[in-house]
Amino acid sequence: MRQSFATEVKNNLSRELYPKACCRTAELSALLRMGATLTLSTGRAMGLSFVTENAAIARKAIMLLKGLGGVYTEVSMIRARRLLKNNTYNVRVMPAPEVSELLDRLGLMRGMGRLREPEEDMELLEKDCCKYAYLRGAFLGGGSVNRPEASYHLELVTENQAMASFLLRILQALDYPARMTDRKDRYIVYIKDSESIIDFLAALGAEKAADDVEAARNLKEVRNQVNRIVNCETANVSKAVEAAGREIAAIHTLEAAGMLDELDELLRETVEARLAHPEATRAELGRILSISKSGLSHRLRRLQALAQTYREY
Ligand SMILES: [Zn+2]
Repeated sequence: MRQSFATEVKNNLSRELYPKACCRTAELSALLRMGATLTLSTGRAMGLSFVTENAAIARKAIMLLKGLGGVYTEVSMIRARRLLKNNTYNVRVMPAPEVSELLDRLGLMRGMGRLREPEEDMELLEKDCCKYAYLRGAFLGGGSVNRPEASYHLELVTENQAMASFLLRILQALDYPARMTDRKDRYIVYIKDSESIIDFLAALGAEKAADDVEAARNLKEVRNQVNRIVNCETANVSKAVEAAGREIAAIHTLEAAGMLDELDELLRETVEARLAHPEATRAELGRILSISKSGLSHRLRRLQALAQTYREY
């Protein structure tokens, strides 16, 4: 099965590690907020369970958790029962007294058993580097982006309304034209502007994906321009056909009035050329008669004026 563009972007981002500890903490915090549940052991020690269908993201979560130290992680894979369904990976932080301290550092919990609202993560995000890291964690945990050839759409999806509102606030603080909507019990924060999607992907470290979207956008723009030119030329051609039609109608009027033989030499050769080349533009007709465009226009005006006098009777 060919992997989607979004999966490819996430796989690539999963391999990246921020050099600064502040950013790694912010990224992990958002990643867990998007897909982790807290567990409580019988001994009242806190644990954590994070489920994802993406092996690279599971690996990254483990790496980031280990980097914070002092906790024991386990991962298990649940094989998909049906074809075309993805396997699921469950990363668990085993319940231990140290886990509370970890949750505290991640901003997920303060003190025993008090879960914190996402809004309170703002204190982790004073620096812009950490805001982007937080967004990357959210993207890995619940993000998606359309393939470059399709319409422009990037989204962060979570079941947690407070988290969605918080992500919207961060995006808007960074000047992204993000919006929010909900679908059943999911909250979707999305961006539809191509420039912002390119910028967002690049800011998260997905340079190649940003380039792909930009290249596809440039191609679309060129295609639109070509279409505009073709449409414009088609319009010019039909204008020429209409003009020729009026000229031929004038010639028929003169013919019906028995006037064709009365025309002077110049008008007669013009009539013959037009009847022989009914689809020629004026420029082409001018070349056939070896006269300038204005010279030809003058003759055609005389023909039509003459026809007009006969049409009135
Ligand atoms: Zn940072």
